[in-house]
Amino acid sequence: MDVTQEKLIEALRKTISRTSMLAEGNDPEIDKALQQMRLNIAKTDDVNVVLESLKSLEPHVLSFDDKRLERAQAFRNTLHDLLDVLESAPQANISLTAKKQFEANLRSHWQTISSWPGLLLQFSSLVEASLTTPTSEEKRPPSLINRLFGRKETRSTETKHSHEDIMVHICHTLAGLIQNLNLPDNYQLQIQDLIQALSGNRDIQQLPALLDEVINLVMVAVGKTQDDLAGYLNQLNKQLASINASIISSYKSQKTLSNQRQDFDSHLTQQVQETSAMANSASDLDSLKSLINERMSTITETMSRYREDMKKQEQQAAKSISQLKHKVNKMEQDASHLRSKMQQKIAEAMTDELTKLPNRASYQEAVMTLCTSARASQTPLCLAVLDIDRFKSINDTWGHLAGDKVLRLVPRQAQTALRKQDVLFRYGGEEFVLLLPALSLEQALATAERVRAAVEQTPFNMNGEPVSITISIGVSLFDGNESSEELFARADKNLYRAKTEGRNRVIGDNS
Ligand code: GH3
Ligand code: MG
Ligand code: MG
Repeated sequence: MDVTQEKLIEALRKTISRTSMLAEGNDPEIDKALQQMRLNIAKTDDVNVVLESLKSLEPHVLSFDDKRLERAQAFRNTLHDLLDVLESAPQANISLTAKKQFEANLRSHWQTISSWPGLLLQFSSLVEASLTTPTSEEKRPPSLINRLFGRKETRSTETKHSHEDIMVHICHTLAGLIQNLNLPDNYQLQIQDLIQALSGNRDIQQLPALLDEVINLVMVAVGKTQDDLAGYLNQLNKQLASINASIISSYKSQKTLSNQRQDFDSHLTQQVQETSAMANSASDLDSLKSLINERMSTITETMSRYREDMKKQEQQAAKSISQLKHKVNKMEQDASHLRSKMQQKIAEAMTDELTKLPNRASYQEAVMTLCTSARASQTPLCLAVLDIDRFKSINDTWGHLAGDKVLRLVPRQAQTALRKQDVLFRYGGEEFVLLLPALSLEQALATAERVRAAVEQTPFNMNGEPVSITISIGVSLFDGNESSEELFARADKNLYRAKTEGRNRVIGDNS
């Protein structure tokens, strides 16, 4: 699971948990189920558990819906009853138009709790108008009983009785209505007072005032529902915004996706704002519910489209990254290939092809470095120049190839007498240079002597004939200040002396 998805699930979990709190207080069964659901989803990361919890809530919500419908039906019946009672009141003079209008309103709005106060108000004014309009014989046909029994003289008592009967009936119905309202606990005292006032009332003139109070309570009941919804929608809005924010923040790192992100952002924000605006203007719970459902599915669509886009972009990014990796690998390979090739070339440039010894260029570099460090560390450094004696005659006698063989074998023999840190270079032709770090002149002369002896003692096979080869060596000691050329020149001078003094010998600065 990637970070975005995790965040999304976390945000949804929070949304469910928080909004479920808002749904509390309507029905004890729902409350219990909601608490259980919150417990479940707090303990798990598994989407299925969350979905299961939501599913288990469904029957309770449905039954709550049923109860709400029952209440609405009871309300409708109440108003019908009240209307019947009013109609049957002998002194009531109901305007037919007003009555029809009221009935039409009741038919179309009884299910909408928020319309209840309006309906009650309308009924209240209907009652007032009916009771205060002066009675006229023409307008009001005599009741069947009156017509049958001609009880004109009992009218006044009858009217009083009817008044009381009607009031008992109306008040009883209104009390039932109030009890049927789903009001918060802190209204219980007010409810009891009103019910008491209703049941004790016999005076029809007080009906409008009592109805006002009933309306107030209905308003409270309706207001609570609207508050809940407003709170719910606010929370929903916030949660959607937080989901949005978490998606955006996780997405921010991918700069290339900024366009899609902005689109998605404004799209989602717009949808959330629209939901909020429409929710505020929605008049009842059902239309709110369907509105939210509709919106949620639009938002879900947007999100899944966004996810797809993101997935594509991720794939594209992954592809680019792997291409980039590939390129970098290739570059690294090329570079290391080039490096080793260069090193090889450098090595080749520093090595003598025939003897495989470091060559004159290499010597130039080495002698400078060694002179510098010898000067800095005040340690001795000696230099020897070796030259094969009468090499020209070897070439002349056994041929150039035999001469090459001698050129390869002499340094190999010389090296048997050397330490690791002593370095032998082919300087040119049959001349070699030997750098002897950290040796005194005496030690260097001794080394040179061992080298000379090693070469002399080696029988070189020339066409099956053992031939003795000798070398002459001139040695010099670095004086700590001179240049490497001066150091070399002195050794070369000593070599020259060795040659002139009979060859196959070592001559040093002190000899
Ligand atoms: P000396 O004892 O005075 O050093 O006499 P020499 O003959 O060694 O000195 P000289 O400098 O007169 O001759 C050096 C010869 O080495 C000349 C040249 O042909 C030969 N030579 C130089 N480089 C090579 C090479 O790479 N291979 C072969 N086979 N001979 C070489
Ligand atoms: Mg020579
Ligand atoms: Mg020579």
